Amino acid sequence: MKIAITGAAGFIAFHVARALLADGHAVSGMDSFTGHDPDLARQRLALLLEHPEFEFVQLDLSEAADLQDWLTRTAPDVVLHLAAEAGARTSFADPGAYVRANMIGTLHLLEACRVVAPAHLLIASSSSVYGANELPPSAETDRTDFPVSFYAATKSSAESMSHAYSHAFDIPTTCLRLFTVYGPWGRPDMALFTFVRLILEGEPIELYGDGQLMRDFTYVADVVDAVLALIPLTPAPGQAHPASDSLSPVAPWRTVNVAGSQPVLVTELVSAVEASLGTVAEKVLLPRQQGDVVDTHADVGLLTALTGLKLQTPVGEGVAAFVEWHRAHYRV
Ligand code: NAD
Repeated sequence: MKIAITGAAGFIAFHVARALLADGHAVSGMDSFTGHDPDLARQRLALLLEHPEFEFVQLDLSEAADLQDWLTRTAPDVVLHLAAEAGARTSFADPGAYVRANMIGTLHLLEACRVVAPAHLLIASSSSVYGANELPPSAETDRTDFPVSFYAATKSSAESMSHAYSHAFDIPTTCLRLFTVYGPWGRPDMALFTFVRLILEGEPIELYGDGQLMRDFTYVADVVDAVLALIPLTPAPGQAHPASDSLSPVAPWRTVNVAGSQPVLVTELVSAVEASLGTVAEKVLLPRQQGDVVDTHADVGLLTALTGLKLQTPVGEGVAAFVEWHRAHYRV
């Protein structure tokens, strides 16, 4: 298959692209290098470019005509939309950037897909859309109309827009609600990366919500398995998961939680880091930050029903793999 990936130099897209190339697919990627660490993104891209079946164009989602040209030229069977302004905490600092990338950018992509008509469009969404709505575990049928971060508001809007396009233009679409993804080549703005870097520098680490926030940390290789398994499972009209039948969905559209469903406290994540590094961190306990939810925990019944998968890499194992990569990559 030919697969087009937006945000291809990003953390998750890099891993997914590598797995698709290893499986014999052709991948065309685009990225604007506007993420949290453009240098790291360029290093990921350099590795992807070593593969003969990978091609790349530097492009911003805001450039609607160029985006259309790229997708028309690529004529992909599948589009994976992973580009985004990512991160909940930083979203109130520059909400306009989140609107441009996650809402207007997604709109441009949907317009291009309307013309190119891929067999399947998969869009990265986020556990943050569950906001303060329901008690976890969160199921795909839970309400998503009370986001607590602006990031979540934009991701939930992107989901809504994709439903409308799927309904109106018959674009089979799956929204992947990803839960705190971590692993080698991960994002430097995320907790695990920050903890490891600071501990290795001999600096204290800050634990928001006194370290009592619970996260459904999901190892990136597990996410790759889920995405690859979902790509051929194209939703048909009216085929949303059974629990939402009462909503009478008619579009070939669905949302799927992608997570390990084994949430741990942030303090437990820190213990795993300390065990991997063989050291004890100095900790500063701070209040919860704007945009933080207390607990993320996925109901993964739909993912398992669709794919037969259970994403089960234990956090200790995943953290050890991240630490090994970090030490080798930064030579510390
Ligand atoms: P990332 O920042 O590493 O990757 C996103 C990529 O998109 C970056 O390389 C960035 O340069 C690119 N990008 C941003 N704006 C762009 C634009 N306007 N045009 C073109 N490219 C643009 O983030 P990630 O962690 O790999 O996340 C990938 C997707 O998964 C995102 O949609 C994110 O919202 C979602 N997600 C991630 C997590 C997680 O824990 N990492 C959790 C939930 C959802």
